Amino acid sequence: MKIKVVGAGPGGLYFAALMKQLDSRHEITLYERNARGATFGFGVVFSDRALEFLRGDDEALYQYLTPHLENWPEITVAHNDVSIPIAGNGFASIGRLDLLTLLYAYVEKLGVKIVFDTEINSLAQLGDADLIVGADGASSWVRTQNEDKFGTTTDWRPNKFIWYGTSKAFNSLTLTFRETKDGVFCAHHYRYKPDMSTFLVEIEDATWRRVGFDKMSTEDTVKYCEKVFAKDLEGHPIVTNHSYWRNFPVIWNERWSFGHTVLLGDALRTAHFSIGAGTRLAMEDAVALFKGFKEHGNDIPAALARFHELRYPPMKKIWDAANISIAWYEQMGELVPKLMPVEFAYSYMTRTGRVGHKEMCVLDPALAAEYEKLHPEVAV
Ligand SMILES: Cc1cc2nc3c(=O)[nH]c(=O)nc-3n(C[C@H](O)[C@H](O)[C@H](O)COP(=O)(O)OP(=O)(O)OC[C@H]3O[C@@H](n4cnc5c(N)ncnc54)[C@H](O)[C@@H]3O)c2cc1C
Repeated sequence: MKIKVVGAGPGGLYFAALMKQLDSRHEITLYERNARGATFGFGVVFSDRALEFLRGDDEALYQYLTPHLENWPEITVAHNDVSIPIAGNGFASIGRLDLLTLLYAYVEKLGVKIVFDTEINSLAQLGDADLIVGADGASSWVRTQNEDKFGTTTDWRPNKFIWYGTSKAFNSLTLTFRETKDGVFCAHHYRYKPDMSTFLVEIEDATWRRVGFDKMSTEDTVKYCEKVFAKDLEGHPIVTNHSYWRNFPVIWNERWSFGHTVLLGDALRTAHFSIGAGTRLAMEDAVALFKGFKEHGNDIPAALARFHELRYPPMKKIWDAANISIAWYEQMGELVPKLMPVEFAYSYMTRTGRVGHKEMCVLDPALAAEYEKLHPEVAV
């Protein structure tokens, strides 16, 4: 088959690798608007559970990537000056650029062609193809040009976030919440290299307006955030890379394909960064689409139908959890002042409903016990 993939992010790259491994005669080309070596952002995380999924599907890729990952066994929730480590939540992280560079080498070795510096903005540009894959991220051109065919809905969430990095190497994935006179600031931060961490700042829209970030320069915005998180950064600077305030779009598509064109990854659906699952979801989409072709050979309609059938149930569960997580962050201005640090950490852990008190007793018995002292009614 002649396969053309728009976007060389983790989803498109991994799908290309799997299809080439399935049949080396497939002619696969990826089109990427960025130059090789240029990317937005800093590091991305995988939960231990996400890595186990990857291992189950692809031991070779798991072995290839794991030496490059930073690992830690717990997460920390910091409520102003009180830090609460929460056991039972292992995470691993990697720089986005490092992940992409590893995947470029992986697919190119298999014989997949990547055409960099090429933005696709018309299907005609792609020429002949048996299959077109829109793996072009949250602002996907393939999707936005065909929203009626895909049945797209986009829900722009009110909170503002900005993706920064810092040279401070944090010891665990940490969610730091700090109260200021203008509102609560949250930083999602974690080390992804021995000397670099992602430092994503999220605030409510009302806080953003009160501070006047809409009129503030990039430099002053950095300075302001460095001041809010001075105790956490301990003198390390915030680093920018195409960093600007944005709102998160929750994207969903009723239909995932039309004709021989299909979406995967963030182009298909977005899942809020607070559950750290975007990269994993994109790679799992790639596995499910590949399985459709593995089962149905070159029968494209059958393979695309099978993709939907295989992928919908597990993906919808995570997508629903991500949307509940978004709503929790949208209430941070109320929750932080109202809850004591232990209650707040517990609220964080149980926010999506996937972890209840029974699970908390297994994950972190000490935190569960502290919470029971305050709320004896939850004891099981
Ligand atoms: C602030 C933020 C923090 C995040 N944190 C995490 C995290 O901690 N953990 C995690 O797992 N995920 C995280 N994510 C999400 C993660 O980055 C994405 O979910 C994941 O990269 C999706 O992979 P993808 O392959 O679908 O798309 P992308 O990684 O977005 O890749 C799409 C590619 O398509 C290219 N492209 C776009 N349009 C065109 C075009 N017209 N022509 C050619 N090329 C095009 C882009 O340049 C890009 O390289 C975060 C996202 C954001 C915004």
